[in-house]
Amino acid sequence: MNYAEILTRLGIGEADLAGGSLAVRTPIDGSEIAKVPELAPEKMADVIATSKAAFKKWRMVPAPRRGELVRLLGEELRAAKDDLGQLVTLEAGKIFQEGLGEVQEMIDICDFAVGLSRQLYGLTIASERPGHRMQETWHPIGPVGIISAFNFPVAVWSWNAALALVCGNPVIWKPSEKTPLTALACQKILEKAIARFGDDAPAGLSQVVIGGAALGEALVTSEDVPVISATGSTRMGRIVGPKVAERFGRSILELGGNNAMIVSPTADLEMAVRAIVFSAVGTAGQRCTTLRRLFVHDSVYDQLIPRLVKAYAGVPAGNPLEQGVLMGPLIDSDSFDRMQGSLAAAKETGATVHGGARQLEDKFPNGYYVTPAIVEMKSQEQVMKDETFAPILYVMRYSDLDDAIDMQNDVPQGLSSCIFSTDVRETEAFLSDAGSDCGIANVNIGPSGAEIGGAFGGEKETGGGRESGSDAWKAYMRRATNTINYSRELPLAQGIKFDID
Ligand code: NAD
Repeated sequence: MNYAEILTRLGIGEADLAGGSLAVRTPIDGSEIAKVPELAPEKMADVIATSKAAFKKWRMVPAPRRGELVRLLGEELRAAKDDLGQLVTLEAGKIFQEGLGEVQEMIDICDFAVGLSRQLYGLTIASERPGHRMQETWHPIGPVGIISAFNFPVAVWSWNAALALVCGNPVIWKPSEKTPLTALACQKILEKAIARFGDDAPAGLSQVVIGGAALGEALVTSEDVPVISATGSTRMGRIVGPKVAERFGRSILELGGNNAMIVSPTADLEMAVRAIVFSAVGTAGQRCTTLRRLFVHDSVYDQLIPRLVKAYAGVPAGNPLEQGVLMGPLIDSDSFDRMQGSLAAAKETGATVHGGARQLEDKFPNGYYVTPAIVEMKSQEQVMKDETFAPILYVMRYSDLDDAIDMQNDVPQGLSSCIFSTDVRETEAFLSDAGSDCGIANVNIGPSGAEIGGAFGGEKETGGGRESGSDAWKAYMRRATNTINYSRELPLAQGIKFDID
């Protein structure tokens, strides 16, 4: 594979990389692919000023016309799907099928947003006063700052950008410092759509800024950026959330998950095995929705776990660009060290560990490939309550469904969850008010691989934000309640008398 050719096809040329200081390494073999120029945090003020100027123009473009730009973006993404999918694989290390899936998700959200551009509906509300009418209207809000994580280097941007753009807002994107090339590529793809769209799109409608936490903080603390959508670790959210709140900004936080599956006595075990392996091993355990905890009923534990251990032993790991490989590398050596630390901590609690060792070290001395791990726990210890961003699946027995649901909910995170059962009483209990406390609760489907149509996000330490489908668009708009008096009287609400002569 010629990396330079992919970059060229995606429109990234020498001029884009000139003076680059941030080394981009592929997790495939640890080699350097490019050096990308970074923005000094002091320069963020200029970027925000450009965005504010773009906002004044973009908010006046009718929403369905704004939707046309996003429709064109979807077309450009379709044309670039293979190249962008490969670049995702190269930069983030996920297998090519998943790289393509991520780009497809971008295309899907564009389609959704185009429809949405004609459906930014408000309510008409009954007024208590004669000759009055009330309504709720939705308006563009201003520049939207997007901070994204390495593991979904392009889809997260599109969930935010496609909605923000149809809602009438410019966007400023600070991608993960581990995946700046995919961000530059997305910007080029959007620029192609803008060129076809014409003059209605103001300069600076979408800007990408490359850098680390200090640059992110310059975006987060600006009063001129009313919405900050931040995706990443809970550690990052603990810094970003209060900083945005301090200035009364709005944050959409999409943070860590610690997702679970309950396998009940009536589960279809064949389906469960397939769902477990995809959810726990896919993306080398580096999805926010990765399955990390498995609660298996006593009556099926001894059938399921040996099958899982066998299935795990056959997962082909290797270069994620190669066909047939199902698991690529971890993002870097730090990630590998954290995985080993968690496995050691689990062992200390008396757990039985299957797998988890480094592999392919001879072929890729600077790539961190592992065998996925299954860890049989005696009880839900602290190590199980922390999110370790690696393919570790903790498994435990249960005998009572209420206990299993309690254990599932007894972690600080609240992103995704599921139950495998063919008993409607169990599945409904799981989905009920007393059931899963997560933002995503599924039945007979694993916790990962969400569609864009639903609102995506989770509770507790996951941050509470919602992105993508359903009514997530409302977070990108300013809501106004209007009361209109078409009578010749001036009655006050609640019947208050306040007469002047
Ligand atoms: P990370 O928190 O290290 O970095 C995420 C982003 O935050 C990066 O762009 C980084 O530069 C930026 N950042 C870090 N500190 C900052 C600060 N003080 N101010 C402003 N920006 C700052 O996360 P990561 O390792 O890239 O990604 C993995 C984590 O992301 C996991 O915890 C995973 O669960 C989470 N994640 C969550 C979702 C979700 O939708 N809930 C989706 C993807 C990833």
